[in-house]
Amino acid sequence: MATYRCGMNPEGCPTEDAPGYCRYHPLEELVAVHGARQWSLHLPALGRTVPIPEEGLSVGRDAPAFAGLPGMSDLDQVSRDHARLEWRDGSLLLSDRGSSNGTFVDGTRLADGRSVEVGPGHTITFAKDIEVRIVDDEDV
Ligand SMILES: [Zn+2]
Repeated sequence: MATYRCGMNPEGCPTEDAPGYCRYHPLEELVAVHGARQWSLHLPALGRTVPIPEEGLSVGRDAPAFAGLPGMSDLDQVSRDHARLEWRDGSLLLSDRGSSNGTFVDGTRLADGRSVEVGPGHTITFAKDIEVRIVDDEDV
């Protein structure tokens, strides 16, 4: 499953198996890494990038990671509980949560109850035209 790396020196500090703090940078919390992947969801409409934590990420106007973002409440084509991103065996899976206007991957609407693997390079759209991207944190 996930390993943890120091945010201060991701390549230089030892990899740990459990959450905690780096022993060389004791105030620096270890960051979960999924295999080699540490990805975020970028929303150009809001100019925001939201990390996708180990426990997954709910996307929607009422989702905890989004509800407080300036401009989010204006995106009313996005449902309150729109979509869900989950890690499974190092892969990132996207599913729609029964949203009104749908979730699209590379132009194809996700069927109810179906999840598809996504990553950087896929075009993901919430509702008709709220385009988002998966970004690799190491490329930012
Ligand atoms: Zn460190």
